[in-house]
Amino acid sequence: MRLYALGVGDTFTERHHTHALLVEAGGFRLAIDCPDSYRRVLKDARDKIALAEPRERAQELSAGLDLFSIDDVLITHVHGDHMNGLEGAAFLKWFAQKKKLGLHTIQQVRDVIWDERLRVSMGQLWDGERFDTLSFDDYFAWSEVSLERETKIGPLTVRARRTKHHVPTSALFIEHDGRSIGISSDTAFDPELIAFLAEADVVVHETNAGPAHTAYEDLLTLAPRVKDKMRLVHYADTFDVDASEIAVLREGDVVEV
Ligand SMILES: [Zn+2]
Repeated sequence: MRLYALGVGDTFTERHHTHALLVEAGGFRLAIDCPDSYRRVLKDARDKIALAEPRERAQELSAGLDLFSIDDVLITHVHGDHMNGLEGAAFLKWFAQKKKLGLHTIQQVRDVIWDERLRVSMGQLWDGERFDTLSFDDYFAWSEVSLERETKIGPLTVRARRTKHHVPTSALFIEHDGRSIGISSDTAFDPELIAFLAEADVVVHETNAGPAHTAYEDLLTLAPRVKDKMRLVHYADTFDVDASEIAVLREGDVVEV
C-alpha cells in the first residue's frame, strides 16, 4: 500500500493545500477528502515528486495522480477544507468522462452532503435551451462506509469510527494485504480513537488549535511506540515542522506502507 500526502494544511492556510491524502493499492486509488482546486492539488504533488525522486521512480509514483485516474473519493466530513473540491471533481467525471464519481462516506455525511452542500450548485444544468434537474445519483455512485462493520472499497478493507468534531466525522483504519494505515481526520484529542488507530503500521493524525482539534502537546504525551508510527497533518502555518518531535507529512511525501 502507498500513502500520498497531497494537502497538509488547515482551513486558514496560505502555505499549503488543505486536507487531502490518497491511498493506492494494487492499482486502485482512493482519495481521502477532496479540497479546493483538487486537480491543482494533484499536480503540485506530481511536481514535488518529480523534484524529489529520480525520473523513472517519479514517473511511476505519479502515474495515477490525476483526477482522470481517480474514480473513488472518501469524504470524512463536510467541512470545506476537506470537501470543497468535490463539486468540481464530480463535474469533471460528468462532463469530461461521462461517468459517475464513486463516493464513500458514513451515513451521517450522506444525509447532508447533497441537500445541504451540493444540490444548490449541481442540481440544475442548462443545455443551451432548457434547464435539467439533476440528482445526487446522477453524479455519484455512493456507498456507505459502515461504522459498525468492515467496508470493502476496491481491494481495501476499511473500518470507520466517529471522531470528536463539530460535525459527524469518520476516522479510518485502512487495510490491504496485511498492512494498515490509520487516519484520524479531524478530531479533538481522543485516547480511545488513538488506541483504535495505533494498531496500524502508520498513523496519520491531525494537529491544530481549538476544542475540536488535537493539540500537539497532547500528542507528545503518547507512548513512544505510538508516536514513532505517527505522521502529522492538518497543521497550522505557524506550526514548526522542523522542530516537531513527531514526524510530519509534507505535500508530495509518499509513504510505502
Ligand atoms: Zn473539520
